[in-house]
Amino acid sequence: MATTIRNKNLFCLNCGQSYELQYPIPVDELTKKIDAFNVLHENCSKTWIEPKVDQSKGIEEKAFFWFQNGERGMSSETIWFCCMNKEVKRVCYPYDPDDFSRCYKLFKAVPEWNTDLYRIKIGLLCPEWSELMKNWDKLTEMYEENTRTNWKNYKEIGMYEFMQKCIMKNTGI
Ligand SMILES: [Zn+2]
Repeated sequence: MATTIRNKNLFCLNCGQSYELQYPIPVDELTKKIDAFNVLHENCSKTWIEPKVDQSKGIEEKAFFWFQNGERGMSSETIWFCCMNKEVKRVCYPYDPDDFSRCYKLFKAVPEWNTDLYRIKIGLLCPEWSELMKNWDKLTEMYEENTRTNWKNYKEIGMYEFMQKCIMKNTGI
């Protein structure tokens, strides 16, 4: 199945069409819309490719490109607002490899932010971010190993568990 929810909308990874959802949405209505969307996109051909940032552009331009075209989540948006020197209204950090993947892709889009200076800045947001930033290279290695092996060694690599360890170190759980 090539359909997913991307930036809060239903999205087809094959043809790139999206369907805008109006939130809040009751669960059974959402289920119906997902089913209908899946039927509609059952046999469409693979024409969509994930938009790539032009690395010859400046930091701000790349950042805005990601904001418009990238796959956003709450933790990656937290990085975005922090690095853009904008007010971070709600600090969210990644809970699992899926959240991590969006942060990872943001850093790929704006590699200038994946540096010590910005890592310290992000780490100041909360103790969880601080611990995650300290271990970002290790997490990146684990993530890349997972994608290389198609998530088949997910358990052995233990990325999810390691992320929990980073997060919980600071919540006293
Ligand atoms: Zn489609």
